[in-house]
Amino acid sequence: MKKIAIIGATGSIGRQAIDVIERYPDAFCVTMISAHSDKDGLISLANRLKVPTVCYTGESSLDITDFNYPCTLLCGENALVDGAESADYDIFLNAVVGLPALRPTMVAIKKGARIALSNKEMLVSAGEYVMAVARKLKSEIIPVDSEHSAIFQCLSAGKREDVDKLIITSSGGAFRDIPLAMLDDLSPERALNHPNWNMGKKITIDCATMVNKGFEVIEASRLFDIDIQSIETVIHRESIVHSMVRFKDGAVVAQLSEPDMRLPIQYAFTYPERLPSPVKPLTVPCDLSFRAVDFERYPCFKIMLEAGALGGLYPAAMLAADSVLVPAYLSGQIKYSQMPIVMSEVLASFSLKGMYDIDDVLRINAEVEKYTHRVVKNLCRI
Ligand code: NDP
Ligand code: MG
Repeated sequence: MKKIAIIGATGSIGRQAIDVIERYPDAFCVTMISAHSDKDGLISLANRLKVPTVCYTGESSLDITDFNYPCTLLCGENALVDGAESADYDIFLNAVVGLPALRPTMVAIKKGARIALSNKEMLVSAGEYVMAVARKLKSEIIPVDSEHSAIFQCLSAGKREDVDKLIITSSGGAFRDIPLAMLDDLSPERALNHPNWNMGKKITIDCATMVNKGFEVIEASRLFDIDIQSIETVIHRESIVHSMVRFKDGAVVAQLSEPDMRLPIQYAFTYPERLPSPVKPLTVPCDLSFRAVDFERYPCFKIMLEAGALGGLYPAAMLAADSVLVPAYLSGQIKYSQMPIVMSEVLASFSLKGMYDIDDVLRINAEVEKYTHRVVKNLCRI
């Protein structure tokens, strides 16, 4: 029986993970869960699954009498770190959005648990640091993000030294077919209409700008220890090929499936074994198309690649800038075409090369957020 801790249990990935786990009550059990705002969701999950450690990081508090069984309840800012330290688990699923996942996941790495990693922000902002610690401690980090899970699976077809290139696929987001001349002033409603996946607003805009793909290229570079220049991105409308690896003999190995996150989540739990999953079997042959990325259409993606190649805290700075720019675009404060302008400005305004630790990441994140707010405010005045 594998014991699984899930931080971010009330979110989209967290709930899909629980769906996977509940199908195999003899193979998995949940020993820790967390939520940030969804109190009722947390209480009902805990009472249904009888989770021994329950963490709540939101502002108000929970009461132990909310639970119909004996459990350890941790509330407040340090609940995730305290939970990660005290709970009993073999696998730690990081399904929290943003940087609050950084410290608790480092605790889980140091405890020797397998990390099932869905959260993107951790490897984007602190990938070099996190992977250096993980490699030193020989800790297992199994990706959940579909592209990285695909690459992880493809890599088992050969030796690491024989890898020539990683090929990451992208749906191209909601703006992939809009004429370039119309892109300048397109509404958030259009960007929110993602062609293949149904996700939250922030990530859907990040798909339209391909900032999300920039994050994923940086994540892949850190996770698989490969240069940004050796990672190619291709537009693949159908989201069936989740990514590929080209080996030095020219063989390209791909992983295909219907787009359903429960497959990579389950694989991160069962690896190296496989179990039947609820994912609809893929009917082969199906129509598949691939085309090159047009950087003119996706200027933010190009900036993300530059930040990734610069390394240090540049990706953390881009993450912080993006977290301000997306809400500013959604609320109509800035135009779509202003997002890359601000991102370039952030990239040019900070000097962020060199070694860093988690405290540096959090400091830069706060500084760049503040700076970006100021730039957005100035743009609004023009
Ligand atoms: P959701 O927004 O659906 O869920 C986020 C979870 O994190 C919720 O449980 C939420 O709690 C919790 N949370 C939010 N803010 C905080 C905070 N400040 N402190 C502690 N916990 C917090 O996100 P997703 O499940 O979609 O995504 C999770 C991560 O996985 C992200 O990094 C995302 O980029 C990545 N990812 C997601 C994919 C997807 O298909 N959804 C695909 C690939 C990667 P509450 O609900 O109580 O507020
Ligand atoms: Mg992805």
